Amino acid sequence: MPLDLLGRPLRDLRISVTDRCNFRCTYCMPREIFGRDFEFLRREELLSFEEIARLAQLFAQLGVEKIRLTGGEPLLRRDLESLVEMLAEVKGIRDLTLTTNGSLLTREKAQALKDAGLNRVTISLDSLDDAVFRAMNDVNFPVTRVLDAIDAADAAGLWPIKIDMVLKRGVNEESIVDMARHFRGTGHIVRFIEYMDVGTTNGWRMQDVVPGREVIERIAREWPIEPVTPNYFGEVAERWRYRDGAGEFGVITSVTQPFCGSCTRARLTADGQLYLCLFATEGHDLRQPLRHRATDEEILEAIRSAWRVRDDRYSEIRSSETVGLPKVEMSRIGG
Ligand code: SAM
Repeated sequence: MPLDLLGRPLRDLRISVTDRCNFRCTYCMPREIFGRDFEFLRREELLSFEEIARLAQLFAQLGVEKIRLTGGEPLLRRDLESLVEMLAEVKGIRDLTLTTNGSLLTREKAQALKDAGLNRVTISLDSLDDAVFRAMNDVNFPVTRVLDAIDAADAAGLWPIKIDMVLKRGVNEESIVDMARHFRGTGHIVRFIEYMDVGTTNGWRMQDVVPGREVIERIAREWPIEPVTPNYFGEVAERWRYRDGAGEFGVITSVTQPFCGSCTRARLTADGQLYLCLFATEGHDLRQPLRHRATDEEILEAIRSAWRVRDDRYSEIRSSETVGLPKVEMSRIGG
C-alpha cells in the first residue's frame, strides 16, 4: 500500500470511459474549442472494458476502495452496464458509482446499471431555471429531462443520489436557494461546487468563483443549518444539515479552501493515462504496458512508483502564474 510524498494513500480511482460529451457546458467544453474539428480519441485508442477491469483489479490491490465512472459523458459509452458488472466483482471495491449529466439515464438504463452492481449516481444539474440551464449546457437541454433522470435513479434505488451544481458568478448563483429548496426533504444531496481552473480552454477567472462560504450564508438565511462531521478521510464535500431534519447539502471548495492534504484520488483517462491530480499537466501511460503483455506485477510497480513520488497539491499553490499551465482538460481526465 504505497503512500505518496505527502503521506497520502491511494483510495479512490476515477475512470473516464470516454472524452466525448453530448453537452457543451460553457465552463467545461466550450463549443468554440470542442467543435466539429476537435479531434476526440479514436475507438482503438480507448481502453476496452476488459482492460479497464484488469487495471481496476490492480488498483484495488494497491488500496483503492472506491471507483467512480465518469467522462466526458460516461453513458455515451455503449453497454456501460457490462463494465459495471465486471467492476462490481473486483475484490476490495466498496463503492462503485457514476457521474452523469443524466441525459441518457432512462428508467431502463438506471435499472440495468443497478442490476449490474452500480451502488449510486451523481447527477450534474447547474440550475432549475430552464433558461439558465439551457444556456449553461449550450445544447438547449431542458431541466425537466434531468429531473426525470433523477427520478429514474431514485426508482432504481441508486442511493444516495447526489446532485452536483457548479457555480459561476453572474450566471447561476441566483439558483442556489431554489436548488436547496427543491431537493430539501427528498433524501438527495445537492453539492455546490466552486468553479475551478481545470484545463486551459474555459477562460477561468478568480472573480467568476462563487465561494462556498457565500453558498452557506445564502442557505442559512432561509433555514437553520449546522455542519456535519465528515464520513471519511479524503471526503471532498464539506457537509451541512438542515436542523429541521430535511436532509443535508455539501459545498466543494477546492478554490477557496483547498483539501489537497487529504487527496487520495487518482484518475485514469479513457486511453489509459494515469493522472495523479485534476490539475496535472502530464499523465503516466498504462495502456502501453497493458497492450504489450506486461505482467500484473510490472503494472503494479508502474502505478506504485508513480504514486510514491506524488507531491501534487495544485489547489494549495494556485496563483495567477499557475492558472496558465498546460493542464489537462476536464473532459479528458474525467470530472
Ligand atoms: N458528463 C458527466 C457530468 O456531466 O456529470 C461527467 C463528467 S463532468 C466533467 C463531471 C462534473 O465536472 C460535472 O458536474 C461538471 O459540472 C463538473 N465540472 C466541469 N468543469 C468544471 C470546472 N471547471 N469547475 C468545476 N466543476 C467542473
